[in-house]
Amino acid sequence: MVSDLKDDLKGKKVLVRVDFNVPIKDGVIGDDNRMTAALPTINYIIDNGGKAILFSHLGRVKTEEDKKALTLKPVAKHLAELLNKPVTFVPVTRGAQLEDAINNMKDGDVLLVENTRFEDLDGKKESGNDPELGKYWASLGDIYVNDAFGTAHREHASNVGIASNMKAAGKKAAAGFLLEKEIKFLGNAVDNPAHPFVAILGGAKVSDKIGVINHLIDKADKIIVGGGMAYTFYAAKGIKIGNSLVEKDKIELAKEIMEKAGDKLVLPIDNVCAEKFDNDAPSKVVEGDIPDGYMALDIGPKSVEEFENVLKDAKTVVWNGPMGVFEMPNFAKGTLEIGKFLGTLTDATTIVGGGDSTAAVKKLGVADKLTHISTGGGASLEYLEGKTLPGIAAVSDK
Ligand code: AMP
Repeated sequence: MVSDLKDDLKGKKVLVRVDFNVPIKDGVIGDDNRMTAALPTINYIIDNGGKAILFSHLGRVKTEEDKKALTLKPVAKHLAELLNKPVTFVPVTRGAQLEDAINNMKDGDVLLVENTRFEDLDGKKESGNDPELGKYWASLGDIYVNDAFGTAHREHASNVGIASNMKAAGKKAAAGFLLEKEIKFLGNAVDNPAHPFVAILGGAKVSDKIGVINHLIDKADKIIVGGGMAYTFYAAKGIKIGNSLVEKDKIELAKEIMEKAGDKLVLPIDNVCAEKFDNDAPSKVVEGDIPDGYMALDIGPKSVEEFENVLKDAKTVVWNGPMGVFEMPNFAKGTLEIGKFLGTLTDATTIVGGGDSTAAVKKLGVADKLTHISTGGGASLEYLEGKTLPGIAAVSDK
């Protein structure tokens, strides 16, 4: 990891892949968690006399028009405020302007390169890990540090491309502190959890979480299933689901999972059911069968109690996916209650696996009570599926 390179950093051009893919509206940064999460690595590099040359993507660049909305310029400005020092922004991703700016850096300086996905306009060079691009970017530096967990499940020029070219040239590549932290928490939870280990899975679709269920089925002591995906399991059990979300082509698979999981699998007992998908729709709490004309949009109070009962002795909890339509205040209670309860489990390692669940715990104000909130949605899901993430493998010695 980057701390192993402490004595190598002085005077070196350190290429750092960060994840500054933050929400920006009218030039103003929304949630800057991903930026603050990268500060320890950036500060470590510059405090040890390195020159930090930062790369990040922002959104998806498909047209020339997208470039205006997806420039990293406002991010550079915000980063300068966070670091309390100037950040040089280079509005291109290659060429003399970039090379000159790098050559003019002094020890401890910070430079941010324009959105790496500007390279996607000309044949998906960044997202397709174009060999020439990875080689070019690698040629700009002496050391490479990957600190972008959010894209670690992708094989892009700015992570795998640079890392492999650096290594091929005999230069060092390492993981940053954020990447290490993600690996430590998610990795330990999956490979070496303190028991009881409880996984909470929610969100819209069973199909998105099959890989996680299959991987955790032998490792977890209980798997709690809530949210829209629970009703495909209801259908598999022959419980009526009304107009609730269902993946008909996954009902057989849900049966197989239930058979394999036995009493490890915990489903909601009751649900908040509404007449339509609308915050203000008339709703009622129903136990068991969901009546015709109703759809389940949140778990009910008995389910919350049951889930809390399963969770109360847990030593490791991994949570991915909301328990209901948390975006609508009238159907956010189940997610909120579970989030709040996790915050009380001071003896347990509580991990939120990115994406919508991260948005949910933040929106609900419980994020700071939990042990670890992952910065990667897709990446954390793939990690929980037991997959090797190329962005991590590229900077690991193992
Ligand atoms: P995912 O991205 O798979 O984690 O799914 C998150 C989405 O699932 C959120 O937008 C929720 O509103 C939605 N969701 C959760 N529970 C339900 C439900 N009971 N019915 C419909 N959508 C749901």
